[in-house]
Amino acid sequence: MSTPQKPLRQPGLIVYLCGLATSALALWLVQIANDNGENIMGWYANGIIPAGAFLVGIASGVGYAVGSRVLNVKLSMAFVFGMITTAVVDYFAAQYLTYLSLVEIHHIPVERYGFIDYFREISEGMSFKGKNSGDAGSPLGMWGYVYKVLEITGYAGGAMVPSMMVFGMPYCKGCQQYLKKHRTGHIHSTEPWPVVKKLKKKERLAALQVAIQDLIARANEFTGPIAAAPLAETEAALATLDQTIQKNAAARITYTLKKCPRCDAHHLDLSLFNYTEDKKVANSNVAKIDKTKVVVAVAEAAAA
Ligand SMILES: [Zn+2]
Repeated sequence: MSTPQKPLRQPGLIVYLCGLATSALALWLVQIANDNGENIMGWYANGIIPAGAFLVGIASGVGYAVGSRVLNVKLSMAFVFGMITTAVVDYFAAQYLTYLSLVEIHHIPVERYGFIDYFREISEGMSFKGKNSGDAGSPLGMWGYVYKVLEITGYAGGAMVPSMMVFGMPYCKGCQQYLKKHRTGHIHSTEPWPVVKKLKKKERLAALQVAIQDLIARANEFTGPIAAAPLAETEAALATLDQTIQKNAAARITYTLKKCPRCDAHHLDLSLFNYTEDKKVANSNVAKIDKTKVVVAVAEAAAA
């Protein structure tokens, strides 16, 4: 194991501090809303999905994602999971601060009313407002804990969302840089949408299926020779494709070439855009060709 590559930078204290800063900000805003009678953490969708906690979690997690993207730090899976623990700690820290401020305002000695007492009270005493009346409902009792667990899970899950988005972005390990969009090209179906649109629904579906199959076959033919080709060749091939989107095509495949800002490592992304039998627009990823590793392998072979 004598690879000349420098070791990957660790997520770094700065990224972590960015995450803590947005978490503190989000939880502080929740506190302000709480003081004004709006319990954001208590917003539930369909009575069971902790939507409010999830949203607050997303806002909290933005700092980790922005920090890692701006500083070009690749997050490790361990870091992402470490964030869950941090989110749970943050959640309880926020509850503890609320408890401390309550105790201080009401001049209650902490020996008589501890944090556990407080947490029991907010859990078991939790209630939902009546849908129409706006009156406080009856306390949930033991069920309150279930909702608290849902709340914490929603919050921690939400906090991971921004980082998971950055985690999936193509990255050049050699240069420790996220790849940047470099060039695009499109292959369009020969079938024009205005013609297909006029067909009856069943025939429209059949026509779309044929159009998409034909399109994918053409895309496969195009992609084969460049799947492992060097950057210059890949760029030249993409230049032969349509450079603008034809809105009238029933379907198209868009090639997006992302490149490392420092070296030739690159990544091809193939996305299918098509109309559906319901006259809606659908979008799906067809393939991702990661050539960052190919380039590293070629470089190492050349050095050997
Ligand atoms: Zn690179």
